[in-house]
Amino acid sequence: MSTEQILNRALGAYLGFACGDALGATVEFMTPKQIQKRYDVHQDIIGGGWLTLEAGQVTDDTQMSLALGQAIIDHQGWNIQAVADNFVAWLESDPPDIGNTCRRGITRYRDSGKLFGLPREDDAGNGSCMRNLPVVLATLNRPDYFSEWSLQQSHITHNHPLSDAATLTLGRIVNRLINGQGMDACKQEAEWLIDQHGEFAYSPYPGKASGYIVDTVQTVLHYFFSTDSFESCLIATVNQGGDADTTGALVGMLAGAKYGVGQIPERWLTRLDQQIADQIRQQTTGLIRLAELL
Ligand code: MN
Ligand code: MN
Repeated sequence: MSTEQILNRALGAYLGFACGDALGATVEFMTPKQIQKRYDVHQDIIGGGWLTLEAGQVTDDTQMSLALGQAIIDHQGWNIQAVADNFVAWLESDPPDIGNTCRRGITRYRDSGKLFGLPREDDAGNGSCMRNLPVVLATLNRPDYFSEWSLQQSHITHNHPLSDAATLTLGRIVNRLINGQGMDACKQEAEWLIDQHGEFAYSPYPGKASGYIVDTVQTVLHYFFSTDSFESCLIATVNQGGDADTTGALVGMLAGAKYGVGQIPERWLTRLDQQIADQIRQQTTGLIRLAELL
């Protein structure tokens, strides 16, 4: 695998993630029926939604990923305190949206200095899984670091076995895709997850796409494995509604890693907030460079 191929897929994953966030945010918290009535098929980055976004604007999913990625690059490795500090700075920057579990965890760290929350039944949201891509990129050649860093950054806000297992699984799938492995390898990772926690079984697809990590992962895996292009994969996913910016982002990450950056529709790439796109390009280069050193 050449560095060029790796960069192509890594950039596909990160830009695909941001495109899914910007595309899905328009229909976040809508039902499939409401989306169909309003848009027929929602397929362009047009902003709006409950956050009344500008077209191309991204939300917490991408912003938290960038905060995490920047901490890794600034420290050329892992510094959990720096990650948590970047989350605090982000929280205080008046972001467009923030999940309740993320807010609670970041506020706890800010006010008490405690990096990790105790396990909680209601922590099984998708907020830690959604921001983990920079860890995947930096640890492409180090599965040991991948697990350790992923769980640490997750536990700043989410401490639940289902969120942990999902975060590790989606990260491992991205790793395999960027390293050039095929769908069988990805399905093996999904099988591992379902063996550990049967509730993640996604076939037949139950059709729920909420922010509960089980619903999120089922939606992402179902549409990733049942579509055959970057564009059709994202469109199908976000038209399922619910937590559509996050399911869109996560499926955009997988599809971008699979199909490569060249398969992201031009109309989405040009619409995406260009400052965000620039940061993503810089971080991708920096994180892959770091991966080669670790
Ligand atoms: Mn969001
Ligand atoms: Mn969301």
